[in-house]
Amino acid sequence: MTDCLFCRIASGEIPADIIARSDRALAFRDIEPQAPVHVLVIPIEHYDDVPSVADADPALAGEMLGLAADVARQEGVEASGHRLVANTGEEGGQSVPHAHMHVLGGRALGWPPG
Ligand code: 5GP
Ligand code: ZN
Repeated sequence: MTDCLFCRIASGEIPADIIARSDRALAFRDIEPQAPVHVLVIPIEHYDDVPSVADADPALAGEMLGLAADVARQEGVEASGHRLVANTGEEGGQSVPHAHMHVLGGRALGWPPG
C-alpha cells in the first residue's frame, strides 16, 4: 500500500484512462488536459522524477521516450507536432512526485512557458 498517486494508478487501484503501455511504462490521459492531446507517460516502478530515472536506469528513460513517441503517433500528433515536458521539482512545477512526462499536442503550443 502506497500513498503515491501514480503508483496507485500503475497498480490499478485508482482508475485512469490508459491508452498505451510498454513492458515497464504506462501512458494515460491527464485528468485536467491542457491541450486536445494531453497524456502522461510514467515508469511503473516508482522514481521521484525523470532525472532520477535517467540516472538509475537509462534504458527505462529510453523506454519512456519510446512510449511517448508511440502515443504521439497513436494520437495523430506526430506530423502536426507535439511537446514532451518533464516538470521537475518545485520551481519546475512538478505537482506529483512520481516521474512522468507530459505529451501535449493538438493545438499550437506557446513558448516560452509561463
Ligand atoms: P506535474 O504538475 O507534476 O508536472 O503533472 C502532474 C499532472 O498530473 C497534472 O497535469 C495533473 O492534471 C495530473 N493529475 C493529477 N492527478 C491526477 C489523477 O488522479 N489522474 C490523472 N489521470 N491525472 C492526474
Ligand atoms: Zn509512485
